[in-house]
Amino acid sequence: MDIRALAEKYSDYIIERRRYYHQHPELSLKEWETTKALLEDVKAMGLEVQTFDDYPGFVATLDTGKPGRTIMLRTDIDALPVQEKTELPFASVNDGVMHACGHDNHMAMLLGAMKILCEVKDEIPGGKVKFIFQSAEEIGYGSRYYVEHGVLDGVDAIFGMHIWGTLEAPFVSVDPGNRMASMDNFTIKVKGFQSHGSAPQDGHDAIVAASAIVLALQTFVSRKNNPINPLVLSVGKFHGGAMYNIICPDVELVGTIRTYSRELRAEMEKDLNTIIKNTAAAHDCEAELIFSPMLPAVINEDPELNEIGREAALKLFGPEGVKEFPALMGSEDFALFMEKIPGFFAFLGTKNPEKGLIYTNHNEKFTSDEDVLFRGSALAAQFAVDFLSK
Ligand code: MN
Repeated sequence: MDIRALAEKYSDYIIERRRYYHQHPELSLKEWETTKALLEDVKAMGLEVQTFDDYPGFVATLDTGKPGRTIMLRTDIDALPVQEKTELPFASVNDGVMHACGHDNHMAMLLGAMKILCEVKDEIPGGKVKFIFQSAEEIGYGSRYYVEHGVLDGVDAIFGMHIWGTLEAPFVSVDPGNRMASMDNFTIKVKGFQSHGSAPQDGHDAIVAASAIVLALQTFVSRKNNPINPLVLSVGKFHGGAMYNIICPDVELVGTIRTYSRELRAEMEKDLNTIIKNTAAAHDCEAELIFSPMLPAVINEDPELNEIGREAALKLFGPEGVKEFPALMGSEDFALFMEKIPGFFAFLGTKNPEKGLIYTNHNEKFTSDEDVLFRGSALAAQFAVDFLSK
């Protein structure tokens, strides 16, 4: 079977569906129209589906009818609260909502992979391919619902892919190891004592204490962490105070931590508490940490899947179509699937300055090089076939 040729045959279909979904984006957990349209696309291929009454997205199954393993292919389906500025003829018709992360492409590529796999079904030695259309990737936990509802039961491995605006088209990245970082979020409540702004000696200034905490937190990165391990700690929100002449008694800080180290993650809450409590105390204030573990890292660490991924890409595109792409510090809730079963995560490059495609994911002008989308479908389909053929 020549999966690349089939993917090229379906390229127009993939682009047409991509444009449709691009034009009709929906926010996380609200992708009901998207789900409806996807169900029509999938049912047209005659596949069985499993839907959820109270949650968008669904799972479709392609059964070869012969015994074997089960592989799941995943796309996310949600968009972002971004006002689109691409000026594309198929730009978003939903004001303030845009597929600025490229999930429109992911959906279309998965539909393309389905078309290919339906066509070669009889040539697959056995097993099943499941397709998950997943809601709410952008809020960091959309995949959890499906895991908790047992969609991974009986599934042996999962494949995911992201198009990326800093990787040149038409390369795919099928690198082993670190791909996307873990994410843990935190809120810190700093409590002081209110007084007149001209009499700081009568109060305990929560703004000064919180400022010291923001700076001290950077020592978690520079002193607690092994410099070889990538680690980001960002405070994205600093909120407090009422007026220029009042010593502020309450400050709230909100931030996020990205890393790849499981060891560091395990100790993180304890270590942050030590820093913030003692720093607050130095300023006669108190600090409370509300720590929210969100996502593990996406790490390609299953030797069999790593080999299938690399071999599939080389088979389809040759060494000239494959490029090493460094790990990112962004996160992906695909990690919650990989926490349960072996998984593999690839990237497809869509940066193309000659076509003006220089904006990257989440930018209001981000769009993809549609000529590469068939490659994503081909890679997903080839990965599934090769996994089921082993
Ligand atoms: Mn994304």
